[in-house]
Amino acid sequence: MKKFEEELQKLNADNKDAITLYREISELAMESLRERISPPAERNAYYLSIEYLLGRSFYNNLMELGVLDSTKRILAEKGIDINVFEEIEDAALGNGGLGRLAACFLDSAAALGLPLYGYGIRYKYGLFKQKLEDGRQIELPDDWQRYGDPWSVRRENEKRVVEFADFSVTAVPYDIPVIGKRVNTLRLFQAEGSDEAKKISEWLYPPDDTEEGKLLRLRQEYFFSAAAIGELTERHAARYGKNFDAFPQHNTLQLNDTHPVIAVAELIRLLTEKYGASFKNAVNIAKASFNYTNHTVLPEALECWNESLVKKILPKIADIIERLNKIQEKELKALGCTKEEIADMAIYRNGTFAMANLAVYMSSAVNGVAALHTEILKNGLFRNAYRVFPDKFRNKTNGVTKRRWLMLCNPELADLIDKTAGKGWRDADSDYSALIGKTDGITKEFTEVKSEKKRQLFNHIAKHEGITIPNGFLVYAQVKRLHEYKRQFMTAFAIYELYVMLKNKSITNFYPSVFIFGAKSAPSYRRAKAIIKFINEIASLVNNDPEVSDKLKVVFVQNYNVSYAEKIVPGTDVSLQVSTAGLEASGTGNMKFMMNGAVTCGTMDGANVEIVEHAGRENNYIFGATVQEIEALKNGGYNPNAVLAENELHRKAVESLVDGSFSDGGTGEFKELYNSLTVGASWHKPDQYYILNDLESYVNALLAINRDYAEGKVFARKQLENVARSSYFSSDRTIKEYAQDIWHI
Ligand SMILES: *Cc1c(COP(=O)(O)O)cnc(C)c1O
Repeated sequence: MKKFEEELQKLNADNKDAITLYREISELAMESLRERISPPAERNAYYLSIEYLLGRSFYNNLMELGVLDSTKRILAEKGIDINVFEEIEDAALGNGGLGRLAACFLDSAAALGLPLYGYGIRYKYGLFKQKLEDGRQIELPDDWQRYGDPWSVRRENEKRVVEFADFSVTAVPYDIPVIGKRVNTLRLFQAEGSDEAKKISEWLYPPDDTEEGKLLRLRQEYFFSAAAIGELTERHAARYGKNFDAFPQHNTLQLNDTHPVIAVAELIRLLTEKYGASFKNAVNIAKASFNYTNHTVLPEALECWNESLVKKILPKIADIIERLNKIQEKELKALGCTKEEIADMAIYRNGTFAMANLAVYMSSAVNGVAALHTEILKNGLFRNAYRVFPDKFRNKTNGVTKRRWLMLCNPELADLIDKTAGKGWRDADSDYSALIGKTDGITKEFTEVKSEKKRQLFNHIAKHEGITIPNGFLVYAQVKRLHEYKRQFMTAFAIYELYVMLKNKSITNFYPSVFIFGAKSAPSYRRAKAIIKFINEIASLVNNDPEVSDKLKVVFVQNYNVSYAEKIVPGTDVSLQVSTAGLEASGTGNMKFMMNGAVTCGTMDGANVEIVEHAGRENNYIFGATVQEIEALKNGGYNPNAVLAENELHRKAVESLVDGSFSDGGTGEFKELYNSLTVGASWHKPDQYYILNDLESYVNALLAINRDYAEGKVFARKQLENVARSSYFSSDRTIKEYAQDIWHI
């Protein structure tokens, strides 16, 4: 990288604005990478994902190239603070955890030297930018390429045509380098051609509450899947000839949730139509090539495509899926499955294609994303398939890349680990378990690091939100997409109860604390938006009450994204992971916080279970109903109104939605939220996420943390134990497992 540094030295920075400099430095780095792009191996893995939540590439890539510090120094000599580029770009081609996981996985594979290539869509507009106005979410388009896109290379001569029944589209690849021991690529396809063709890669997640929106979504899924499969089959034919029996030997494809599952049918279509394979042979090749990761058990998130819709724009694909359904039915019958079992596993049912069932049937390996989630798949959602094909099922607990989520966002903590346990942990093949047993000796240093990260976070918040948080405040954070199952609503009630107790002095000695929220709501999700408004109403009540504002603050940050997470995660003491047990498949936010020394205050859900297993229950704060207890409540006729009748504080908190304490501006949203808890709706029972069931134990956990924090060293040791035991949650570990057990690369 000497050349990069020399070129950077020579760079004339005079009178150049941050955007120009950003572009020129990025281009220098890309130049230096050119000859380092690794050639494909004999056997490669491909990750198909409709989302990649990359965040900012600039600092991460310079770090991976080993020139972040020298760049900082050289720029400083030219009078430039490297942080000026922080406002520039944050590529949010995804919504949340699923897309961020894809980005962490690519990073880890490159770091480990494994040939894993990503395929996806180059949306013109990523996830909307969020502003808060009067406590409400406003959505603005995210034109992430407006300052250019120096980290992508357009591959004009590798474009290909994707055909729909009504029109065709050109898929133009853009390659983004993923830097590590290997330099792999993430290939994103941009749709070009007619106006209707271009629409396909215009927006991440077009609103799919209309028929038109659904159609566009289906086109997106087919568009990138078909482009990827077209490319891989062509490459195979060029390299190994037209016998595709060896295709699975050279290619293994991971389906990140059901969005790319249509790729299975596309491979069969190409093998039979273009390469002369028999249908049966093509099915076997496909089965040996694909693997599927399930990310959710929420029924509304399991994709089912109307047969008529698929027929309309992809008649051949619809035919193939129907044939697969028949083959599946025959096989299951022969295996002795009952009618009910077959109906449950059917690919075609009620006029729709059940994409998760298609994925399970057509994949070699099916995995959940945390131990608990995989058990729920085996005993719940996919129980019949598990009985028939037990060998397909395995667990791959998620992870996060320690490079972005520790080394880059928290160099102060990384240095402390170096000093205490040596630098070996930085290697992808290594971990930082060397810290275990040494945490007692460094609580003071750790507390200093944490204080510094809080100062940085509070400055950032002051600058972006205009809210000041006094130094020394204890930081609780709940940052993630807004969803009822994640229960930000429950945290809102808990804060309101703390407020009431502070006001009436039923709690004293409360350690001054701030609750930080960050979350975007899907634009059409009315309740989630109402919850944002409710939290902001509570925030303005609490923050403007001089009696409590030196003890309690509430901040809802705007436009939570990867870059914001990189500030919030290191500066947090308490990670709030409070989903209804059984509903958060894994979570990865929980891992980022753990890695940076926050204790988890959470339910026994998703990867929280394993976090506690590794870091010790005594070093975290677990509360609320377990999966089994939730099941029992479900079957026992849970009655939230009975809980309210018994608990005055809860009553006060819930009534605040309708008793005039807060205003929703006359929209009726708060009344609707109130009803969701107390009477339910045509499609659900009251309090379907068991908020009132868990609220009391939640408040008690928050108070226990508050007391323990005041003890200083003891709490710092709990935090450090979490750091020391977080190696398991590095995506390097996860990717090694995928490589060994599923991909065999
Ligand atoms: C990690 C991450 C997520 C996922 O958070 P969960 O708490 O696991 O839902 C979502 N959004 C961003 C920006 C992230 O960095």
